[in-house]
Amino acid sequence: MSSDFGPARPEHRLTSEPLLAFHDVSKTYDTFAAGTKHALDRVSFEISPGERIAIVGRSGSGKSTLLHLAAGIDLPTSGTVRWKNTDLRSLTERRRTLIRRDDIGLVFQFFHLLSHLSVAENVALPELIAGGRLRTFRPRVMHLLERVGLDDRADDVVDRLSGGEMQRVAICRALLRQPTMLLADEPTGNLDDATGQAVMDLMLELAEETNSALVYVTHSHELATRADAVWTLHSGTLDLS
Ligand code: ADP
Repeated sequence: MSSDFGPARPEHRLTSEPLLAFHDVSKTYDTFAAGTKHALDRVSFEISPGERIAIVGRSGSGKSTLLHLAAGIDLPTSGTVRWKNTDLRSLTERRRTLIRRDDIGLVFQFFHLLSHLSVAENVALPELIAGGRLRTFRPRVMHLLERVGLDDRADDVVDRLSGGEMQRVAICRALLRQPTMLLADEPTGNLDDATGQAVMDLMLELAEETNSALVYVTHSHELATRADAVWTLHSGTLDLS
């Protein structure tokens, strides 16, 4: 398998400006049944280009909420989320969608692949949605698939793959547009231990090769220790130590 993964982005290592910064971020949800839920409580942190952060915490501690705010899918109730020094609240929803499309790769526990499309079409999906044609992106798609050992499955329908293979396809899709940050919500949560390890190895390797920052939520202590730092959420408060 080739390790040539397109141009590295050394300029990111030279700047001290954070890629993502949360300042005093709180998020509450108003629910009919349970009243106001405090999902995040005055959370502050910075993530630098190329940095790898694992987020751990019990179910309901706010991990998914934090990732949603980081991706600009949702906005905080109070506090600021800055992406490359721009307050996400100051941007239109369209602009936030473009940042997510062009700059951020998302990986989910349940893969979120389209089962009736081929492996290659699933990887190319962000470009196909943007109006591109698979033919144009096929070389990059194949390069990514080769990198994760699935180039010979490119034209198979995706639902013939195993869970580990599906997650590798989802990682390729997340990396298609060479994002500056990958956000992964329990990417190995639906995989057995050995497959999860292998998928995590690949994600860490690929993030490093592309100099993408990587923020991943995990329940596995072992997988968490692979990051540069492990942050713990306790009922919405973040412990960075
Ligand atoms: P985790 O990912 O750590 O399991 P979440 O971020 O999903 O935690 O949830 C944090 C808290 O916020 C939980 O109490 C959850 O029930 C609540 N919550 C999350 N999303 C919503 C929502 N859309 N509406 C109401 N409550 C929510």
